[in-house]
Amino acid sequence: MALLSVVLPAYNEEQNIAHTVKVLSELLERHGIDYELVFISDGSGDDTFAEIRRAAEQNSRIKGAEFSRNFGKEAGIFAGLELTTGDAVIVMDCDLQHPPETIPEMWKLWQEGAEIVEGIKKKRGRENLFHKLSAGLFYKIMSKLIRMDMNSTSDFKLLDRKVVKVLLELPERNTFFRALTFWAGFRTERVEYEVQERLFGESKWSFFSLMRYAITNATSFSTLPLQLVTVMGVVSLLFSMILAVQTLVRYVTGTAVEGFTTVILLVLIIGGFLMVSLGIIGHYIARIYEEVKGRPKYIISKVTENVPETVKGIWRKEV
Ligand code: UDP
Ligand code: MG
Repeated sequence: MALLSVVLPAYNEEQNIAHTVKVLSELLERHGIDYELVFISDGSGDDTFAEIRRAAEQNSRIKGAEFSRNFGKEAGIFAGLELTTGDAVIVMDCDLQHPPETIPEMWKLWQEGAEIVEGIKKKRGRENLFHKLSAGLFYKIMSKLIRMDMNSTSDFKLLDRKVVKVLLELPERNTFFRALTFWAGFRTERVEYEVQERLFGESKWSFFSLMRYAITNATSFSTLPLQLVTVMGVVSLLFSMILAVQTLVRYVTGTAVEGFTTVILLVLIIGGFLMVSLGIIGHYIARIYEEVKGRPKYIISKVTENVPETVKGIWRKEV
């Protein structure tokens, strides 16, 4: 019988674990799906891991790990994938904002041969206008950059073991799970779902963390910003040629005294272009620097009893 693994990254979700376990195990048992739940506590400052451990003691289908510090959801997803043994893996938020009722639908599509099932957001849940706008803009830009329709996609997906294997073998540190499944290809189906409201706790995203996420992902997936530097160079070159002609004409006709405004503007514009360009290049160098150092995506500090110690990324069983 095929096994379904569900990966649930959790950061300060102590209030959600027990409820999520209950909802998911009841649902999967009702549908006769053989399952395991893999929780990754992302360096939580609360009792999230204690809750995971408690759940694992009661139900051997549940396992989990704790990071040594907060490494971010992306790292949580990859650590989760590493711990799974299922023939298919579903990644979802542990606050149940990704509706569990969608799981049987995804499972059915997988049984019918789909290798990736993308969860597509029907409408965004209750978020403030600013969040909605910035997230909307982010996905518009991302879609352009990576030339695929990113709008409405999320981290809620089902992946066949083949795809999980591909993702786990990627050498890069800065991953972007949401877009990587598009990049990987494979036979993809989509299911629509409605984002639910969070039951307990609150969203972990602040405006700044969202911006950082956007920039990191845009640059980890595309080198287009670097080409922007060339575009700015070409624009200022054209501009300066026009000005050069004007300046020469003025010199020849003997009216070349004025022009401070032009000089000030030119200095400011070119200075601005240069600094932005340096910033973009610097950002990529920082990315290269991080990749070259080759540090692990995450460090696991604790695991539940039923996790084999041989799993990659586990440095010590208990700290
Ligand atoms: N999460 C995580 N590490 C983080 C931030 C969030 O593992 O640093 C988890 C979080 O516990 C939740 C999921 O990622 O299961 C989505 O986070 P959240 O609900 O805060 O984001 P939102 O649903 O508002 O986009
Ligand atoms: Mg959430």
